[in-house]
Amino acid sequence: MKAHDGMYIDGSWRPAAGPDTIAVVNPADEQVIAHVPAGTAEDVDAAVRAARAALPAWAATPPAERAARIAALRDVLAARKDEIAETVTAELGAPLPFAQRVHAGLPIAVAGSYAELAATYPFEEKAGNSTVLLEPVGVVGAITPWNYPLHQIVAKVAPALAAGCTVVLKPAEDTPLTAQLFAEAVHKAGVPAGVFNLVTGLGPVAGQALAEHEGVDLVSFTGSTAVGRQIGAVAGAAVKRVALELGGKSANVILPSADLAKAVGVGVANVMSNSGQTCSAWTRMLVHRDQYDEAVQLAAEAVGKYGDRIGPLVNAKQHDRVRGYIEKGVAEGARLVAGGPEAPREQGYFVSPTVFADVTEDMTIAQEEIFGPVLSILKYEDEDDALRIANGTVYGLAGAVWAGDDEEAVAFARRMDTGQVDINGGRFNPLAPFGGYKQSGVGRELGTHGLAEYLQTKSLQF
Ligand code: NAD
Repeated sequence: MKAHDGMYIDGSWRPAAGPDTIAVVNPADEQVIAHVPAGTAEDVDAAVRAARAALPAWAATPPAERAARIAALRDVLAARKDEIAETVTAELGAPLPFAQRVHAGLPIAVAGSYAELAATYPFEEKAGNSTVLLEPVGVVGAITPWNYPLHQIVAKVAPALAAGCTVVLKPAEDTPLTAQLFAEAVHKAGVPAGVFNLVTGLGPVAGQALAEHEGVDLVSFTGSTAVGRQIGAVAGAAVKRVALELGGKSANVILPSADLAKAVGVGVANVMSNSGQTCSAWTRMLVHRDQYDEAVQLAAEAVGKYGDRIGPLVNAKQHDRVRGYIEKGVAEGARLVAGGPEAPREQGYFVSPTVFADVTEDMTIAQEEIFGPVLSILKYEDEDDALRIANGTVYGLAGAVWAGDDEEAVAFARRMDTGQVDINGGRFNPLAPFGGYKQSGVGRELGTHGLAEYLQTKSLQF
């Protein structure tokens, strides 16, 4: 595939400081499809300097003009929708229809939402005898993962630009081609030089240099809890702002009054989507003891449909990791009802959709984020027991509640320690704040709450 051999800094593609490159691999057939430069601290420094130089003018640009640039960006992305989908399919392995609908469709919708919010957001408010100014935080270091490559980028860059911040992006090393396409789109949309900059590279090199750079005012990170913790520590030491979107182990709570078949079917689809590589996936299904056997049967039937339709995992490391969790589930006594630790395919990092029954709370597969197509079904005795299990992990990112009516489901959702709950299925809303309770993170993305992350407040007293 076509790839740039430089970094997008200060409005143009310029050679990387060092000679090293990263091979981009198609996880479906393990072929190398491109090489991109492996950025160093020197590249990061150049990008941060460009972002800092561009900050005063961009921060002073009227919100309506910033909104116009974001709208233009949305339009460029929409015009290149097929190419986005093909790129994500090539570097992540997502099946093309899913890549078109979700990997391309979702970020276009999110960019559209910020084009509107940038124009209407109240950047100034009154509080008694004060005027409160909401000003951009400054230079943002954005570090993104590979699981939804373009969405993760847009969910940070669009609100940052709307707020008047400038950005240096360090995308995941597995999916840099989508990030390069995004940089082209930013350029084409007429965003001024230096407002957005891209440095591809390895996490512990380019990512770390960006998080540590003293010219960065806010680090926004999405990825593993382990790296999030490190970034939080670095930011804490420097007293810079930080936003962390980390892992999850979300519960799909099916109350006895729910439509069981629907709840199980949607629940299975939710976990298998993107081959299970979704931080908000409902990986723990909680079912009342009287309905448990029926739910397990329904889940086994539902998962049968996914056999050939899900893509591979992103890389060999994730493949080994997920297979390790499946083996651990078996070793700890969970009952396999679909999929399992079969021999790897000759080519591609595929794992079969897997369902475990008789999973108990203390098992590793009920506590740790697997990030693969693996569903654990747990049994509860009554509502309090369901709540205790639902809240019984270190995470709190998302979840679902199913009941005979919304009111009953909402009453349960209010007691859940988690940042987002889908009620009787829910419907994706690009304006709904997304982010974690507990160790799932700090801060929110999307909508006005996502924009507010990139603002700092100044009050003027009269
Ligand atoms: P990761 O946390 O290692 O990588 C995420 C991003 O952080 C990448 O851009 C990476 O280059 C960068 N990074 C890595 N080390 C860094 C460092 N020391 N300093 C600065 N940046 C650094 O995640 P991964 O290895 O790609 O995936 C591992 C696990 O993370 C997954 O199995 C899953 O549990 C979790 N994950 C969560 C999400 C999410 O959306 N919350 C997304 C992807 C992965």
